[in-house]
Amino acid sequence: MRPFEYISPTTKAQAVSLLSNSWGNTEILAGGTDLLALMKDDVVTPKRLVNLKEIKDLEGVSASPQGLRIGALTTLGDLADDKNIKENYPALAEALIEAASPQIRNMATIGGNLCQRPRCWYFRNGLGLLPKSETGRELVTEGENRYHAILGNDGPAKFVSPSTIAPVLIAYGGSLRLVGVRGQREIAVEKFFLTPKAEAQREHDLRPNEILAEIVLPPASEVKAAHYEIRQKAAFDWPLAVAAVGLRMEGANVQSARVVMGYVAPVPWLCPEAAQVLRGQSVNEERAQKAADAALRNAKPLSRNAYKVQLARVAVKRAILKAASGGAA
Ligand SMILES: Cc1cc2nc3c(=O)[nH]c(=O)nc-3n(C[C@H](O)[C@H](O)[C@H](O)COP(=O)(O)OP(=O)(O)OC[C@H]3O[C@@H](n4cnc5c(N)ncnc54)[C@H](O)[C@@H]3O)c2cc1C
Repeated sequence: MRPFEYISPTTKAQAVSLLSNSWGNTEILAGGTDLLALMKDDVVTPKRLVNLKEIKDLEGVSASPQGLRIGALTTLGDLADDKNIKENYPALAEALIEAASPQIRNMATIGGNLCQRPRCWYFRNGLGLLPKSETGRELVTEGENRYHAILGNDGPAKFVSPSTIAPVLIAYGGSLRLVGVRGQREIAVEKFFLTPKAEAQREHDLRPNEILAEIVLPPASEVKAAHYEIRQKAAFDWPLAVAAVGLRMEGANVQSARVVMGYVAPVPWLCPEAAQVLRGQSVNEERAQKAADAALRNAKPLSRNAYKVQLARVAVKRAILKAASGGAA
């Protein structure tokens, strides 16, 4: 690993003042489960690491009538054990317990989970987010793309957004509080994720001198939500497709729906087409199938990942049926 300066601020204001206003010079360290691997592999080479773990008000979960506030430094393990999350946001609890392994969940923070970098093996091998050959050919298009995007892949970005937690936060209608040198801003979780069009851009709407401070979830009492992952094996593995669904009901009918897919696009993929199919209808097998078909109608698989279209369709259908029948078990 290359030498770097290491600083542990104790306040958010100190932390943002220590960050550079361009990417590459400084990086934020939370649990380190992603960043340190990238540094060891020489993919990320900061001159300064700003460790957030001494900033105590970035930790913990608190509930209020407005909903739930989750500090960005809270670990996935602590969140999975949180009584309030288990009772009121069971689909989130399920997504948390399915993520990674117990050892990683004990170190990994929710802020780091949302800001983690893509698992794309071109990126992890130092070829960049939008890998190209010396002659400018896109390497992923005809290359080893079996785990890459099937939606939102028209531009140069073909990787898939890596968080399995982000889709369910979007299904619950969550937002993020970002703190920078000029103060705080709040954005919907789905707006935080961006598809880079140039190598210098990142996959998040986070400025280089901002930190993700909090995740905010609205009260969940009226949302029936579910999370569904398809993996090659039940033991620890990254998924092939993820779906999360949040349904607001009016009697037996869906008043509004949020249908989100993960691992299919460079961003968590919100499907208004699927929500439209569900709106005003009761949910049954046939309706769920129609919504899942709508969610995948515009899929454009690459040379080796057409199999993911059907997997994602199945994940969406099952998540809808699961949400309608009461959500996570
Ligand atoms: C073996 C393995 C299996 C995994 N399986 C899954 C899985 O199934 N599902 C899943 O979703 N994830 C999975 N992950 C990813 C894991 O969840 C992330 O590595 C972890 O959540 C990152 O959190 P961290 O605190 O360790 O972040 P770090 O490694 O410290 O940081 C990760 C990135 O986020 C940035 N960052 C961290 N915190 C902040 C903040 N507050 N504000 C701004 N930027 C910040 C860092 O600068 C860095 O770029 C897996 C990882 C491993 C190694």
